[in-house]
Amino acid sequence: MENKIILDKYDLVVIGGGPAGTPVAMEFAKLKKNSQILLIDAKGELGGECLFDGCIPSKILEVCSKELKDLKRLKKLGLRIENESFSWKDIVLRKEKILERRTNAAKENLFSLGNVTLLKGVASFIDENKVKVISHDKEFIISFDKCVIATGSKPFIPNFKGNGMDKIWTNDILFDKMELPKSLTIIGDGPIGIELSQILSGFGVKINLIGNKDFILPMIEKKYSNFILENIENDPNINLILNVNVDRINYDENKNEFTVLFRNNKDNLEGSVISEKVLIATGRRSNISNLNLDKAKIKYNDRGIEVNEYLQTTNKNIYASGDVVFKFPKFAHTSSYGAHIISQNLFFGKNKFKTNFDKNSWVLFSDPGFASAGISEEEAEKRNLDIVVGEYNFNENAKSQIEEKDFGFLKFIVNKKNLQIIGVEVLNKDANILGGEASLIVSKKITLVDLVNSIHPHPTISEGFVFLAKKMMGEIMEERMKNPMFKLVFFFKKLF
Ligand SMILES: Cc1cc2nc3c(=O)[nH]c(=O)nc-3n(C[C@H](O)[C@H](O)[C@H](O)COP(=O)(O)OP(=O)(O)OC[C@H]3O[C@@H](n4cnc5c(N)ncnc54)[C@H](O)[C@@H]3O)c2cc1C
Repeated sequence: MENKIILDKYDLVVIGGGPAGTPVAMEFAKLKKNSQILLIDAKGELGGECLFDGCIPSKILEVCSKELKDLKRLKKLGLRIENESFSWKDIVLRKEKILERRTNAAKENLFSLGNVTLLKGVASFIDENKVKVISHDKEFIISFDKCVIATGSKPFIPNFKGNGMDKIWTNDILFDKMELPKSLTIIGDGPIGIELSQILSGFGVKINLIGNKDFILPMIEKKYSNFILENIENDPNINLILNVNVDRINYDENKNEFTVLFRNNKDNLEGSVISEKVLIATGRRSNISNLNLDKAKIKYNDRGIEVNEYLQTTNKNIYASGDVVFKFPKFAHTSSYGAHIISQNLFFGKNKFKTNFDKNSWVLFSDPGFASAGISEEEAEKRNLDIVVGEYNFNENAKSQIEEKDFGFLKFIVNKKNLQIIGVEVLNKDANILGGEASLIVSKKITLVDLVNSIHPHPTISEGFVFLAKKMMGEIMEERMKNPMFKLVFFFKKLF
């Protein structure tokens, strides 16, 4: 490398152009127009893991897979579609176009602000207020007033034995392949493993899905995760293997196939599966190893950077958001929410805004889908909250019946005293759509009474929110009327 060292200074340096880094650069640039901001990204593109290897490519495939599966449902609607087929190559090319459109639009927005520079390169700290960036044949030494670390995460790959380890796939490799394997072993039954199994099974890929516990999706109430489990078990393209620990991954060059060997946790018996490819989805680890965090006096552990509730690190001039942060909900939207908190705190010049993940919402794009907002019944009980819980069955819903999608549940977790809805859960094909309203209900502290008094359009699945609120209010009133004191108060309230 030609040793060109360029010195520069910025008001704000942001490391990482994903959902955590890009919005903080843009929001701060808008809030403080006279400031100069440098956004550094290793790829030199905007979007991060979410756009290039995560949320967006997986959901582009999910839509195609769902449409293919839905063709079977169309027969129930009286429609006949013959000879359905697909071109994987066309699907991948369409995905590329969407990604390009989105990253270009983000860059256009960023550059239109006029005070943000995007630098392609890998950044690391050299002291408490300076980073070094290696970019092509140049080295930059950049000092900053404030800095935000948003370097995200990468797949965690356990140290399995065997000669196949250097040929395994992770999510980032899968999405770029122009050909689909006929068979694939997915190790890891977390959200990524489940989503990918169900998506790829829709394209006819024979999947071995391997998990190390005797249940799946511990973050979801068992009643609901069991429906997802049942669907996986009934999927002719998915061979679900639970409660085993993978030992070894062997690759046979002559046969061009992998053998994954594992031991059952119950009886320690050995088993194996054979497939054309192996994909590992055993979790993620924060991207901190090359940052030289010690030089900037930033505290961290092997799971990420430690921050306070304002997302400030142990270096008061450096904040962090997104997957790189320890104990941070690992989603694109929480990363961007963190970016918003940081830009506000930077703008006001002091820590005014705290994170509150009790109002977080998220969607699992499984089949059926699952959405959650606020806190679960289990969490409410752990916190000793006085709650009342209600459930609505989508088989009562007109729109669900019309669309032959009349399966699933809506659940409210409600504070018994003030009737505020503190948690919403949805198990439904359209859970991702209902997740938006669920998020607002929780974050705006909507009560059952507010929902009863709202006017939802008919016929829609969102009417479920009102039906459930009415049902719960009826039950609560009936219960309260049994109390003579309440009866008396109610009587006087009616009188005056
Ligand atoms: C298969 C899959 C599906 C997912 N689906 C969803 C979903 O549906 N919904 C959802 O909310 N979330 C989803 N996620 C999670 C989501 O992608 C992440 O939570 C999100 O991308 C985190 O954003 P981030 O900005 O913290 O990090 P990233 O998106 O990882 O961005 C970090 C950026 O920093 C850059 N970088 C790293 N180190 C350096 C360095 N030293 N110098 C300069 N640049 C650097 C990287 O190149 C990258 O561009 C999914 C993830 C996966 C893997």
